[in-house]
Amino acid sequence: MSNERLRSPILPGSAVGVLGSGQLGRMFAMAARRMGYRVHTFSPDEDTPTGQVADREITASYDDLDAVRDFARGVSAVTFEFENVPAATAAAAAEFAPVRPGGNVLHVAQHRLREKTFLRNAGLPVTPFRRIGSISELQMAMQELGLPAVLKSAGFGYDGKGQFTIRSTDQAGEAWEAIGQQEAVLEAFIAFEREVSVVAARSETGEFAHFGVTENRHRNHILDLSISPGDVSPTVFRDAVEIARAILEKLEVVGVLCVEFFLCAGDKLLVNELAPRPHNSGHFTFDANVTSQFEQQLRAVCGLCLGSVMQFAPAAMANLLGDLWAEGEPNWAEACSAPNVKLHLYGKSEARPGRKMGHLTALTDSAAQAASDVERARRALMRG
Ligand code: AMP
Repeated sequence: MSNERLRSPILPGSAVGVLGSGQLGRMFAMAARRMGYRVHTFSPDEDTPTGQVADREITASYDDLDAVRDFARGVSAVTFEFENVPAATAAAAAEFAPVRPGGNVLHVAQHRLREKTFLRNAGLPVTPFRRIGSISELQMAMQELGLPAVLKSAGFGYDGKGQFTIRSTDQAGEAWEAIGQQEAVLEAFIAFEREVSVVAARSETGEFAHFGVTENRHRNHILDLSISPGDVSPTVFRDAVEIARAILEKLEVVGVLCVEFFLCAGDKLLVNELAPRPHNSGHFTFDANVTSQFEQQLRAVCGLCLGSVMQFAPAAMANLLGDLWAEGEPNWAEACSAPNVKLHLYGKSEARPGRKMGHLTALTDSAAQAASDVERARRALMRG
């Protein structure tokens, strides 16, 4: 069923299912409910960010395929909000409802080795890499690629988890231990100038829309700040969008996909990672664009036309991590005192260090000013 073309669009009033229950599902559910859709969410957890705003929250293991089938029977289409949904789960859902993007996209994007091999075979620029299956392969690859190099587990990694930066030859054993002695990828360490991303959508009929090039700043491997539009040359803008378009077309994505890039000296782009869903670097679209990345996902998944991506104003987004709660509840009133700053909280009760609890978006007449405003608002959260 997943590869079958939708015969007619899934219209408001219908139920759409989301595998996963975090903040991406929450913002998807908000966009969908605004348009009169019903939303069912499926994950192993209770009282989740998505479940709090969905019509139905189903709590079961992703491996409980009967529960997955029941969930899919109750909706007109299924999408996901994180790419580590097991392939068998997506396949069980696809017996009863179209899964968009399809299982083939998940298959590629949930495994670094498959993802990088796909990109290389498609002739797209990707960080130099080698497959690693043993410590001796690691030692050989370290010689070929040179040091420093980054060892990453092949499956199930995000926000720098399952990664080890190797700086000297005697660290091979430590790195191999650290990622759990499992299939991995060794990547050359890229001395990039900046990190940028393109969030794009593709509809069932092959329509393509993108939210331009966003500049992203990370802290401890976690996204900290996104600025849109990113300050890049017209050549970088064109190349990044064309690479994103090629990826969505080659993978036949129906939905939203984010391409994260390293921007190197000489305006050279290398693809770092794909995320086949709305992405943290596209959160600003919720406030800044005619159609957000979440509504775009809904439109694609339901077989509707894509919406306008027109941006009302330059924007910047700052993540609110659990660390901000270290001294107690942040000062929300202070952050809300800036009239051009929007507060988003995800309804998570436990604030752990590094956990994404919410974000702020600032809109103003220049991207640099938006970045400064959003950082000021975030600092104000810590004022007692
Ligand atoms: P990832 O989970 O692969 O997106 O990595 C998280 C972050 O680690 C990236 O956004 C980069 O800031 C950094 N990183 C990952 N891979 C490399 C690399 N090959 N060279 C330099 N920095 C990297």
